[in-house]
Amino acid sequence: MKLTVHGSRGSIPTPSKYTVKYGGNTSCFELEFGNYQIFFDTGSGFKNISLADKHIDKLIFYSHWHHDHIQGLPFNSHIFNQENKITVTSALASRNVLRHTLQTYFSGGYFPVDIVKVLSNLMFKNISTVKKSIENDFHLDWLELQHPGGCYGYSIIYDDKKICYLCDNEYDEAQLPFLEKFANNSDLVIWDGMFTEDELSEKAGWGHSSIEQGVKFFDQTNIKSMMITHHAPYRTDNLLDEIAPSLPDGVYFAKDEMSVTI
Ligand SMILES: [Zn+2]
Ligand SMILES: [Zn+2]
Repeated sequence: MKLTVHGSRGSIPTPSKYTVKYGGNTSCFELEFGNYQIFFDTGSGFKNISLADKHIDKLIFYSHWHHDHIQGLPFNSHIFNQENKITVTSALASRNVLRHTLQTYFSGGYFPVDIVKVLSNLMFKNISTVKKSIENDFHLDWLELQHPGGCYGYSIIYDDKKICYLCDNEYDEAQLPFLEKFANNSDLVIWDGMFTEDELSEKAGWGHSSIEQGVKFFDQTNIKSMMITHHAPYRTDNLLDEIAPSLPDGVYFAKDEMSVTI
């Protein structure tokens, strides 16, 4: 499986001379394997994605609808090609709620066109329907995370390789047993490390974890590597570079347009 990061920034796109190295686009991850091109969220990084040809099945899994996870959807010019059929789903809500939520966000005074009407190639499906349709090809699972308004993490197993997308999540120790079970034996876990441990006390209830919590979880569990993402908008390249040497082997910061093969 090949994972490409298209948006490692949290909350708001942050382009500046201080974010050139790690990038400023918001949450979007592309996973390619077999006959599939899968996207976890469509933050502003989604605009940089090249959609594979029509023979490849394309699916978008939404963790939740906070704007940094959906805002890039209509800015990818390839999705206006009606030949590009894309399944859109989420464990957070039914297909009707998901469709209505995206339609409301990209409408009225906030966006010039009704993308749900214009993009009839977006096929909204319930996650249970998606799971059934892919069950012969790969294993899919999901897990409720702690985040205001709700959020779900996903795991995919293909060809004995496992990847977990766990963003956005306000981690606490009570989550350890079931999060450990969910992520057990992962080759790669994508972790929400928006804050540092020092910042956490002031950010209770904001729905995010710390870099240090990610490292502790990595040490406590049976996972092979961890990519820390959802960098705070104020976390400049220099600040991330100051922290990076303290990360143990196997744990690293996500960077926009970085690819890893597992
Ligand atoms: Zn977010
Ligand atoms: Zn969020």
